[in-house]
Amino acid sequence: MKKIAVLGSTGSIGTQTLDIVRQNADLKVVALAAGCNVELMEKQIREFSPRMAVMWSEKACEDLRARVADTEVKIGCGMEGLLEIAVMEEMEVLVTAIVGMIGIRPTIAAIESGKAIALANKETLVTAGHIIMPLAEKKKVPVLPVDSEHSAIFQSINGEPAGRIEKILLTASGGPFRGRTAKELKDMKVEDALKHPNWAMGKKITIDSATMVNKGLEVMEAKWLFGVDLDRIEVVVHPQSIIHSMVEYVDGAVIAQLGMPE
Ligand code: NDP
Repeated sequence: MKKIAVLGSTGSIGTQTLDIVRQNADLKVVALAAGCNVELMEKQIREFSPRMAVMWSEKACEDLRARVADTEVKIGCGMEGLLEIAVMEEMEVLVTAIVGMIGIRPTIAAIESGKAIALANKETLVTAGHIIMPLAEKKKVPVLPVDSEHSAIFQSINGEPAGRIEKILLTASGGPFRGRTAKELKDMKVEDALKHPNWAMGKKITIDSATMVNKGLEVMEAKWLFGVDLDRIEVVVHPQSIIHSMVEYVDGAVIAQLGMPE
């Protein structure tokens, strides 16, 4: 039985993580955290019976406390609550699915107490990779990529040493605005940017995909995760998103990971 905690359990990655828990009897959720979606958090507590649940705002915590007063769950609040989850004794894997840099401190705390990290929260590595990766190495803690491209690279590397890698080929769909002229882009609305052609994701990453900023973040994420210099990470536009990413080796061989997007 693997005991996990999910930070950002009410979001796109968080709810998909819980779908995986539903399908795997050997996974147990011991803690959940979210921002302000109290209604969904209440449902998740009743379904997964975690020992602890955290909401970001004081108001959301109070509301949740009243809603689940008939259960055993401990309710925590804000950064203090996130940090308490990060070091829970029984927790083995921390799924970081919060948006933004707020994930840095819980990730560091979890690594310091020897927990494996399943990392979706790319902003954490983009901004603090220079702290997180050396710390994970020192503590011998795995940082496992959840982001689909990085998961594909991780699978394509399959334990090969970094010295064998010639370059990483990071695929990009190009987002909803691929091929549009500068003139056409002037009239685009938020709703247009939120229509990603291949993936249903949270709003921030969807907007970042439309502007391609997401790919820039992913290049930096890959640099930290795989210890490869930026000039050996190449972005390849592949609108169908069937190849999730590839690794080219020093002998010219390329290993890719493929799957139909859904
Ligand atoms: P969503 O916006 O769908 O979900 C964000 C989650 O974080 C929600 O549960 C939200 O809670 C919670 N949250 C936000 N702020 C706080 C806070 N201060 N404290 C606690 N919880 C908070 O985002 P995504 O799931 O799309 O993305 C999550 C991360 O994963 C991002 O870093 C993104 O770049 C990355 N990622 C996402 C992918 C995807 O397919 N969605 C793919 C690859 C990477 P609430 O809603 O209750 O406010």
